[in-house]
Amino acid sequence: MTLNYKNSNLFIDNLSIKNITKKNITPFYIYSFKKIKNNYQNFSNYFKKVSPLICFSVKSNSNVSIISELGRMGSGADVVSEGELLKALKAKIKPNKIVFSGVGKTENELKVAIKKRVLLINIESESEAKLIDKISKKMRRITSIGIRINPGVDANTLSKISTGKLDSKFGLPKSNFLNLCRNFKKFRNLKIKALSVHIGSQITSINPYRKTLNVLYKIIKLSRINFEYIDLGGGFGIPYQNKQKKIDIGRYSKLVNKFKKKLNCKIIFEPGRFIVGNTGTLISRIVFIKKNRNKNFVILDAGMNDFMRPALYNAKHNIIPVLKLKKQMNGNVEFVGPICESTDTFVKYRNYSLLNENNYVAITNVGAYGSSLSSNYNTRPLASEILIKKGKVKIIRRRQKISEII
Ligand SMILES: *Cc1c(COP(=O)(O)O)cnc(C)c1O
Repeated sequence: MTLNYKNSNLFIDNLSIKNITKKNITPFYIYSFKKIKNNYQNFSNYFKKVSPLICFSVKSNSNVSIISELGRMGSGADVVSEGELLKALKAKIKPNKIVFSGVGKTENELKVAIKKRVLLINIESESEAKLIDKISKKMRRITSIGIRINPGVDANTLSKISTGKLDSKFGLPKSNFLNLCRNFKKFRNLKIKALSVHIGSQITSINPYRKTLNVLYKIIKLSRINFEYIDLGGGFGIPYQNKQKKIDIGRYSKLVNKFKKKLNCKIIFEPGRFIVGNTGTLISRIVFIKKNRNKNFVILDAGMNDFMRPALYNAKHNIIPVLKLKKQMNGNVEFVGPICESTDTFVKYRNYSLLNENNYVAITNVGAYGSSLSSNYNTRPLASEILIKKGKVKIIRRRQKISEII
């Protein structure tokens, strides 16, 4: 375990969080290098036989130091904007390990990606193919592309993070995909290298993945194209609550291995949450505790601008005290942020150990879609980020200064 208590005090990888708060203004994100490495190796071991190219999804955590640590472990990057592409390059990820995804890449973004010769630009419309062909012609390049298909598979996850259903904006429906394949010759400056798919996020069963493989196999046969790569996307879920079930990646890897052998292709994965989700914690100070009727509002110095998942997706993240007292709070507890929005609330408990103003708490499992989704709303500065690596506290992003936002 990354987080554990010693004499009622919370530690991360054997360092006292209380001590870290003495030198760092809250709120701040803190990550365990050890855990990131474990998760990456774990993922890669599951798919050993498949030997895929793993392209870390940069939108799940776009801290350059974290991308660079993953790069050193062998990871590539899946990026969705020029900014993410430049971050991946800054983190020394080789262009031939970078996949560029997204429904609305602009001409400028495409120019940068073509110029840098990324492994794949995964297109999602015929218009995008036309535009890339036009730019490539001007630049006298042949650009490698992947085509993202919408397999019409329900990922059975939260509707707000589902991307593979037929009414979703992502990818090309089967008939459009086949049409594009048939007429592809007209794009003289493009080369089809891959078929890509990504059906959603926080997927906890392999059934939607199994269905997707079946759909892909059929459509690949119909297309009569030998794709060098099949990019199977990300979406692997993690348990946020104790009882939540874990996805059986071992079983999925067997299916992928068969699929790969039948098609004689290379496989790409784009995991985000699975690699970093449980590696990050948001440390926050209790500003005030105010009791309204039977409920204690515990008002934190972290708000929805620092961590948006509860407000955006109704996601539940456990909050644990940095100093765990034996006594109990009198009444229910609701942890809320300071922002002027009713959705700026994190989680409720019926019973909770005693908290006092100016104590610290830890919001858990915030390594994915935490810091990367944070904003300057309410003109609040972006929080700092810290990496615990080999017993050392490394600041991997300093806290933004208010003057930088004004
Ligand atoms: C967001 C995204 C991912 C990563 O999803 P996770 O659920 O974090 O694994 C991968 N591929 C694409 C195209 C994405 O948009």
